[in-house]
Amino acid sequence: MHRRAAHPEGLVLTKPNGDQRGFVDPKRSDGGHVLEDLWVMQGSVCDLKCKHCYTASSPQNHRLEQIRFGELRPHLEEAARFGVRRIYFTGGEPFVNRDVLEGRTTRNEEFLASLEFALTLAPVEILSNGRRYIRNHFEALQTLRVRHGDRLKLRITLESPEPARHDAIRGKGTFAQTVATVRDLAAMGFFPVITAERPLLTLQSDEEIREAYRALFCGLAIEVNLIENILESGHELTRIAQAGGAPHAEVFITTNCFSILGKAPESLMCHFSRCIQKVEGEIRYYPCPVIYDDPHFELGRTLGESLRRVYLAHKNCYDYCLKGRGASCRTKAI
Ligand code: SF4
Ligand code: SF4
Repeated sequence: MHRRAAHPEGLVLTKPNGDQRGFVDPKRSDGGHVLEDLWVMQGSVCDLKCKHCYTASSPQNHRLEQIRFGELRPHLEEAARFGVRRIYFTGGEPFVNRDVLEGRTTRNEEFLASLEFALTLAPVEILSNGRRYIRNHFEALQTLRVRHGDRLKLRITLESPEPARHDAIRGKGTFAQTVATVRDLAAMGFFPVITAERPLLTLQSDEEIREAYRALFCGLAIEVNLIENILESGHELTRIAQAGGAPHAEVFITTNCFSILGKAPESLMCHFSRCIQKVEGEIRYYPCPVIYDDPHFELGRTLGESLRRVYLAHKNCYDYCLKGRGASCRTKAI
């Protein structure tokens, strides 16, 4: 059987001129490792196929497999032992799986079971496209809202306050469907977080962007969260090629880059997060949700094993976390 390389096997850590590869160590407190954020990638299947989707998600992409509750539970329990402060569910679209998409059932029951259990351990945030399938889960979400209040947060992507710009990325009619979902969630008492990628917006200042989204939801309580960088991976690579471009070259991030770029290693997700993905039938730990299905960055099969040094050797380390303002998958209201 082919053995997958384990991080940092196979990575160049020293350049011929002696420069050392930059790295991030996991957070410690009182002499032991601690985890703040646990990311669960529920699979790469999605009802949409957005042009820039960095996981290349689509109705046909099952490379990242759905994680069943029974498989996930021991990992959630381990995260609780390491003090997890927030659990995130993302994908793909967490509310769909193969059975939901193919019409055999209307709800992703495995996800709901995971969600219910996760909420007993820590606050939870779900990243959803808010289009169609989340609506089949409204009743369950409302029950969880009554039980857990603001511990359950919903983050919904709306690429632009302009319908045509959102639909050009996500598909015709998706803007109206997602806006309706956000309004319904707000009516249920949720405080939806609207997420967008800043590079795709025409408006520039935080204030203009916030006001444009607020105007759309006229008076409903929403929060606006921006992702600062777009990843050159997944469907975005296809889009770049179709536009006649080429992805930026990979950069060697040295130990000096942190001070040159003004980023502290402690500010990066790999310092305080880990991400669970299921590939080829097995749960694997990654440093963060922006690196997936790449054996060079696999940190182990348990959380304890994964809490070790991460060398910044992925293109996404620069493209997402270090470039420009630097991006993070944590929510931060503008
Ligand atoms: S960006 Fe989100 S909604 Fe769009 S295809 Fe990817 S996972 Fe699905
Ligand atoms: S992408 Fe960012 S968070 Fe992930 S390993 Fe690289 S620097 Fe760390």
